[in-house]
Amino acid sequence: MADYYQTLGVDRNATSEEIKKAYRKLARKLHPDVAGPEGAEQFKEVSEAYDVLSNKEKRQTYDMGGADAVKNGGAGFGGAGFGGGGFGFDGGFGDIFSSFFGGGAAERGPASRVRRGADSLVSLDLELKDVVFGVEKKIAIDALVECGTCHGHMSAPGTEPVTCTQCHGSGSVQRVTNSILGQMVSVVACNQCQGYGTIITSPCPECAGEGRVRANRSVTVNIPAGVENGMRIRMQGRGDAGQAGGPAGDLFLEVYVAEDPLFAREGDNLVGAIEIPMTSAALGTTLDVETFDGPHTIKIEPGMQAGDVITLPGLGVGRLHRGTRGDLKLQMAVVTPTDLDDEQRSLLEQLAELRGEERHAKPVTAGASVFSKLRDKFTGRA
Ligand SMILES: [Zn+2]
Ligand SMILES: [Zn+2]
Repeated sequence: MADYYQTLGVDRNATSEEIKKAYRKLARKLHPDVAGPEGAEQFKEVSEAYDVLSNKEKRQTYDMGGADAVKNGGAGFGGAGFGGGGFGFDGGFGDIFSSFFGGGAAERGPASRVRRGADSLVSLDLELKDVVFGVEKKIAIDALVECGTCHGHMSAPGTEPVTCTQCHGSGSVQRVTNSILGQMVSVVACNQCQGYGTIITSPCPECAGEGRVRANRSVTVNIPAGVENGMRIRMQGRGDAGQAGGPAGDLFLEVYVAEDPLFAREGDNLVGAIEIPMTSAALGTTLDVETFDGPHTIKIEPGMQAGDVITLPGLGVGRLHRGTRGDLKLQMAVVTPTDLDDEQRSLLEQLAELRGEERHAKPVTAGASVFSKLRDKFTGRA
């Protein structure tokens, strides 16, 4: 079987529009109703080529492994009944016939050097603040890029691959074996050209005939707000360049979010703790607290208890792809003074006496708080 691109008379990089155009032109010329039985065989070939090249998936499979890959993939050619030919078109069946009755070599196209590039995985270190607002990051990756000298063609500039003399460009050769059933003819890949049908006699000196070179590349990525630790972000076509013009692989970024010294993430919310002096907790006050959105003034009501939570709506983590944000929750840590001078101690003693609190204490059950972890951390710092 001839090369499908040759059959349609189009370039390997032809667009689907160009392929459709070429097919229509040929189909009009070769249709059995027009060209009679003489054109039928060629029409069949053209239709088969079009069936594969007009389908994105089949074309990719064909580019990577030739006609056999498409046929073995079970795609089948569901073309209309071909007038004049007399038999149905079944790739798999055809192959069996080929191997018994010879002619198999002519049925196989040469293998293509085109390959999809490999996927890359890179870890991406983020701060908690990056996750709150989203961030643009420039990352350096080491990847295969198209060779600038041969532009992926693998041959030295000005040279072309030469047709293999052993298989005459078909990429396969017939092997005859004798068995008790008689002589068997099988078709195997040509060992001189590895089935490609052509041999690169002058490999590009820059890439040693690989068509690609390893290089440091800088990629700018927009990380949306709300990504989670461990999440993988896929960037289509940003992995290794494909071989011989094949599609590039994908780049995957695995997100690692560093711990923040002040805030922790709980779903869409941020949680933190603020220290207030015992007297402020009793008397009430206003405080400036630092948030990811800058300084924020909060009001402490008189009688605020240790563990009470102040919620600042909309100052939490951005919700992934939704444009809204969770809340910032700040838990009160009431600080008891430990460095009282004589005068201060005397005042507190008077206060305790006035309130009758000198020897007054009652046991309470320590409730499990969602902030207990943070409070531990906080207490550790204090
Ligand atoms: Zn090169
Ligand atoms: Zn060969």
